[in-house]
Amino acid sequence: MKVLFAVSECVPFIKTGGLADVAGSLPKELKRLGTDVRVILPKYGMISDSYKKQMKKVTSFYVQLGWRMQYCGIEELKLDDVTFYFVDNEYYFKRDQLYGFYDDGERFGFFNRAVLEAIEKIGFYPDVIHCHDWHTGMIPFLYKVEYQKRNGYGLIRTVFTIHNLQFQGIMPKETLQDILGLDERYFHIDQLEFYGNINFMKGAIVAADKITTVSPTYRNEIQTEYYGEKLNHLLIKRDEDLDGILNGIDDDMYHPLKDSSLVQSYSADDLQGKAINKAEIQRKFALPVNSDIPLLVMITRLTRQKGLDLVQCVFDELLSDHLQMIVLGSGDASFEHFFREMEHFYPTKFKAYIGFDEDLAHRLYAGADLFLMPSQFEPCGLGQLIAMKYGAIPIVRETGGLNDTVHSFNEATNEGNGFSFTHFNAHDMLHTIRRASSFYQNEDVWDLLVKRAMNMDYSWAQSAFKYNRLYSELISRSESHVF
Ligand code: ADP
Repeated sequence: MKVLFAVSECVPFIKTGGLADVAGSLPKELKRLGTDVRVILPKYGMISDSYKKQMKKVTSFYVQLGWRMQYCGIEELKLDDVTFYFVDNEYYFKRDQLYGFYDDGERFGFFNRAVLEAIEKIGFYPDVIHCHDWHTGMIPFLYKVEYQKRNGYGLIRTVFTIHNLQFQGIMPKETLQDILGLDERYFHIDQLEFYGNINFMKGAIVAADKITTVSPTYRNEIQTEYYGEKLNHLLIKRDEDLDGILNGIDDDMYHPLKDSSLVQSYSADDLQGKAINKAEIQRKFALPVNSDIPLLVMITRLTRQKGLDLVQCVFDELLSDHLQMIVLGSGDASFEHFFREMEHFYPTKFKAYIGFDEDLAHRLYAGADLFLMPSQFEPCGLGQLIAMKYGAIPIVRETGGLNDTVHSFNEATNEGNGFSFTHFNAHDMLHTIRRASSFYQNEDVWDLLVKRAMNMDYSWAQSAFKYNRLYSELISRSESHVF
């Protein structure tokens, strides 16, 4: 089976969030199952030189984008047995950020056409193109209305995975003809039209043969008005072709026994090392070095999705408790300012590191006792999975993948691997943090919880198997999806 992953970010080359983790780890796992997976992504200027030096040019050609003819180089790099193709166009991708430019519609419109053209130019005709999030949303659509008719392309199937429905790639109407070179007739409510604009993600949901999202709970949530981001009706229409497959985490990357970022490795059988990592973090952040005080950590994009409104709302109450808190994150300026300011109010209890730092993230997961993730919505969430792996007990809101992976501790039955609350409510969150902290003081209970969390299996093996099965079923279908 041959699968081409089209994605806008991928570990270890470039990462802004969980999408990159998935794109970096799932192909490796599929490869182990015997699937020939290759990954194609933009060659961003921000990718480190050490990787750029290893890339070898495969071919170059021109991509027609409306009236433009744009250069497209394809470069190749092999890592962990997986082939990665990089789409090279410096005008579009040699910038200091990945997203958020006025011409994102043109940049990713180019990327989508480049992927479809590259198939023929590199001679890798996949059975399935697996696209991820809006940045690749026009691939299934363009495939169905244009490329399917091309020699050698006819039998390809398309899968589209929704990692976050909130970001849809909504572009002005002009993008349709001027950039994508598509006919006016596709500006229709059953096709690409979305409240007077065009919508990349909608294109994929309309056209892909299969749609998946990254947890069973989120799969159901996005068919409701609250979580559906105005695409819920369309997702209900595609119900039969919509699956929820939980993300995993990469065992090579996140493992307290193998992690070179940590000052001391450790395992569920020997937690001494975890205490050393905690002390090191307390020292680094100039907090009192004291193992009796629970250390609560957040590692997150600083956006409303992640429940930071709740944290802000009860911050003073929370910090009046017997705990220490560290936030690692970057994002909305208002949250960045808030956390920076709070450092001055609680110098011995609260620290913020505003920025993106992979190495520090690993050390924080290892040093933390509690990991807070009170998301408003959470398609899957990797933070809570990594936290559990490192023995930091997650405190989450019961939504999306958080609901599927964290089970609230029940002292009567002695079940559960974390703490959770149902409603998006600041005091419910505060109460849950307090409940978790109270168990921290009971060494026996805490030890058991930490060990249980660390022994959970959230590796990719099971999910990769489900994706493989989905590809096989799709390939064996005699007809592809018609819309
Ligand atoms: P999302 O993809 O919505 O941002 P996830 O929980 O799925 O959320 O994935 C977030 C990933 O990004 C995790 O691997 C987390 O550790 C990492 N991360 C988030 N913020 C930072 C940061 N400021 N520095 C380092 N890593 C971060």
